[in-house]
Amino acid sequence: MHYADKHSLGEIELFETKITRIDNLGENAFVYYFKRFFNFHSGQVVAISLQKDEPPRLYSIASEPENDEVAILFKVKPDGFLTPRLAEVEVGGEILVSRPFGAFYGTENSDYWIAAGTGIAPFISMQKNGLAAHKTLIHGGRAENSFYYASLFANDKSLKYIPCSSTTEKEGFYNGRLTEYLKTEHLDMDQSFFVCGSSEMVVQVRDILIDRGVDYDKIIAEIYF
Ligand SMILES: Cc1cc2nc3c(=O)[nH]c(=O)nc-3n(C[C@H](O)[C@H](O)[C@H](O)COP(=O)(O)OP(=O)(O)OC[C@H]3O[C@@H](n4cnc5c(N)ncnc54)[C@H](O)[C@@H]3O)c2cc1C
Repeated sequence: MHYADKHSLGEIELFETKITRIDNLGENAFVYYFKRFFNFHSGQVVAISLQKDEPPRLYSIASEPENDEVAILFKVKPDGFLTPRLAEVEVGGEILVSRPFGAFYGTENSDYWIAAGTGIAPFISMQKNGLAAHKTLIHGGRAENSFYYASLFANDKSLKYIPCSSTTEKEGFYNGRLTEYLKTEHLDMDQSFFVCGSSEMVVQVRDILIDRGVDYDKIIAEIYF
């Protein structure tokens, strides 16, 4: 199997869609917008491709369900199959997008949201959809500019926002990795833990939470592979 096939999703229907807007977040990270042609729940994903005969990649929707535009947030993997070419598509250019799917749904409860890198995307949708109240968002990153949408969360006083970085000594930041925070700080074990990011990150976080006594059933993960 060529690695381009790793997200083989079988026969998934893709629709030609024009990019309406692009935000460049720096460091090869972008938000692409296209006109919404479906209804969805915050936390769901779409499959994206550039050609019908190519295997698509999955992207969490980073906008709220009522918005006329859908946003996806991605970072270019320089040796990746899709993202280097996706980043060359300009406003007005066409991409192929599936209908939404997935069940990583936000709740109204006092959940923990745990994200690193582009794994913040579904929580952006949830925050914009009014689901941030009483949440604790533990957000891991390296450089300060890898905390995508940090100001959206920092300015939302209905949630507790904890950016974690071992390389940033700054007020408002936890000076240490996200995993360090989860190992050492107080956690309310009765809550659910929604975790989103790379497979390595999700596995590490899950192991730490289980070690600390969180029920397996309370860990809900969206793995970006
Ligand atoms: C449910 C879900 C939601 C996701 N949501 C997002 C999102 O919101 N934003 C986002 O940016 N990404 C998201 N992803 C990840 C996304 O689908 C792509 O995997 C990512 O954008 C990289 O795609 P690519 O084709 O450019 O790179 P890929 O071709 O997939 O490669 C990624 C990296 O892995 C390496 N690699 C891949 N296969 C092999 C192999 N067999 N051997 C060695 N190295 C290999 C490549 O060299 C590269 O460095 C999500 C994934 C899932 C499953």
